[in-house]
Amino acid sequence: METLKRAFNDRRAVVGALILIVLGLMALLAPLLAQHPPSQLSNDTWLHPNSQHWLGTTALGQDVFSQLLYGSRLSLLVGLVTGLIATVISVIVGLASAFFGGVVDDILSGITNIFLVLPGLPLVIVAAAYLQVSGVVPVIAVISFTGWAWGARVLRSQALSLRDRDFVQAAVAGGEGPLRVIFAEILPNMVGLIAANFFGAALYAVLAEAGLEFLGVGDVSQVTWGTMLYWAQSSQALLQGAWPWIATPGLCIAALGTAFALLNFAVDEVANPRLRSERVAAESKPLALKPAGAPPAGDALLQLRHLEAGYLTEKGTVRAVKDVNLEVHRGEFLGIAGESGCGKSTLAFAVAQLLRPPGQVLSGEVWLNGQELVRLPPEALRQTRWKDFSMVFQSSMNALNPVMRVGDQIADAMRAHGVSDKSLIEARVKELFGMVGIRPEYMVAYPHQLSGGMKQRVVIAIALALEPRLVIMDEPTTALDVVVQRSILQEIDAVRRRLNLSIVFITHDLSLLVEMSDRVAIMYAGEIVELAPSHDLYANPLHPYTRRLMNAFPPLEGERTRRDGIAGRPPDLGRVIQGCPFAPRCDRAMTGLCEVVAPLRLEVSAGHVVACHLYDPNVMKGRAEDHAIAAD
Ligand code: SF4
Repeated sequence: METLKRAFNDRRAVVGALILIVLGLMALLAPLLAQHPPSQLSNDTWLHPNSQHWLGTTALGQDVFSQLLYGSRLSLLVGLVTGLIATVISVIVGLASAFFGGVVDDILSGITNIFLVLPGLPLVIVAAAYLQVSGVVPVIAVISFTGWAWGARVLRSQALSLRDRDFVQAAVAGGEGPLRVIFAEILPNMVGLIAANFFGAALYAVLAEAGLEFLGVGDVSQVTWGTMLYWAQSSQALLQGAWPWIATPGLCIAALGTAFALLNFAVDEVANPRLRSERVAAESKPLALKPAGAPPAGDALLQLRHLEAGYLTEKGTVRAVKDVNLEVHRGEFLGIAGESGCGKSTLAFAVAQLLRPPGQVLSGEVWLNGQELVRLPPEALRQTRWKDFSMVFQSSMNALNPVMRVGDQIADAMRAHGVSDKSLIEARVKELFGMVGIRPEYMVAYPHQLSGGMKQRVVIAIALALEPRLVIMDEPTTALDVVVQRSILQEIDAVRRRLNLSIVFITHDLSLLVEMSDRVAIMYAGEIVELAPSHDLYANPLHPYTRRLMNAFPPLEGERTRRDGIAGRPPDLGRVIQGCPFAPRCDRAMTGLCEVVAPLRLEVSAGHVVACHLYDPNVMKGRAEDHAIAAD
């Protein structure tokens, strides 16, 4: 139901479906709509369109409109049946080949390759000439028989890439049988491709049938759009001014192709939620950002001013980053921590100007070394990125190109920014490998020859290639074990000190951050709720969320104690949140206050900022007075 609703909301789907319905009705209602039998001869030859013959008549006096209606029956039948048969064969062969692999793949791929080189149209011509069956059956049989191989090849490639994805491996590990994995896990991810395969095969069949008939190879005694074109051409209809005879079947074929194309776009979007979100974002009015204010006066390398970022969805704007004000100093290691979904990664992407639709910066400013990034033109931003700042992504181990040597991938990043001296690049790649703790002989290795930790080091080396002033690291070591994680972090820290880099390091592991960072910012529901020097935050966490977050991880030293999680879930960022966003989960929430009034961010000691009513002297004083009055 939801799918149908979405399809109806898509203009392309509606237009495509309407065209297809009109063509379908023409075929179904032909006996009712046609004023004359389609092949009936008469003496009224070459008539122009009139009330008796809406599209005129042919050289033999047949009614063109009736021929068009009846012609749509066989033409559409050929298209739909052939498309269906070819698609079913493609799906079965492609999926079986990819999923079972080994001998099954070898045999099916061999058969597919043979069918790929079979010439479809010549075969149809031979079949039409030699088969004893007349009509469109040989056309359907031969095009279906020869037309599935290309689709099977494409679907096999797609299924092969899906087969190795984590969600499929998880389903296999979870005990799901092969058929369930194929039909419940892999197939739904290929709906767009399968639909494209069907529409392509169906249109090819209609065109092939029309082409053959037009050449006079098929059974020209039947009425199809193709035979109409054949007879119109051979009777020189255009010279006689009978243009509807030749134009209307051509228009119908073009309309069918258009309907398939429009429906294909819509199926893609209905099947792929990501495409849907991108369309919503693309259709939304671009947000008009206010002009940036004056450049920051201090010596901070990075300054965020009232930065807001989020995602434009069908249900409205999800504000994932709210009014963030933050400074990062030269050479500083700033940690940002918080649960999943609290806006950390969106903040990192907003700073790096890497948010893609439906994500976007909603308002605010990002100043890096005197340059405002949000309003920077794309080419200037491209030049700045990697030279002035770089980013290490959460899934960066997958960011390496599998068919390129890792050393070349670092060299590529340098070439993209104008470094062309080969010996300079080679020396720099060697140096970077040394910096991140990889032996230089691995420069010629491919990513699959490296361990996860080594791949991550390569990605960090790429980020350091141009010695940017700032490196943003979005959970770069989360997928690694603690030993490798620690060793990589120590190397990052050593490089930072040596090059005086600033690092913004994002993770959910607060204990790790407290140890590595100069300052730590705690994010909750898109806001920075506490910001403090690491030692201060460790010794004296103030915000109830920070305390709970700290208690969720083992301490760096001391006895082993039981860890508690944080009960409840972060709020839905698509809704307007009233009061303190942590109130529903806070064990110190003050009834009548916290769920209604949002706390201010206040500096409670040098560099220690917190957004909680408990540390707002005015609020607490007023509350104490209220209690005193109530007690009286
Ligand atoms: Fe808890 Fe209230 Fe502080 Fe929010 S403002 S963290 S609800 S005490």
